[in-house]
Amino acid sequence: MARAACRDADPELFFPITWDDRPGRADDEARSICRACPVRPACLDWAVRTGEPDGMWGGTTPAERRLLRARQTA
Ligand code: SF4
Repeated sequence: MARAACRDADPELFFPITWDDRPGRADDEARSICRACPVRPACLDWAVRTGEPDGMWGGTTPAERRLLRARQTA
């Protein structure tokens, strides 16, 4: 957590009430923070393995993680 790029970011960027995947939306800003994060691979792996149901983790939305999990179990 100490190395997380989102450590001081606005939590609303990572946990919006609803997700809007259109370009230029808040999740783009969160993704851009995740892209520069040194712990992104570990963060994404944890979120996919635990089935984290909410928020932006490792640069992915909940729907994107569900897709990743489905591909891993196929
Ligand atoms: S990859 Fe994970 S720890 Fe890093 S900024 Fe994104 S949500 Fe935060």
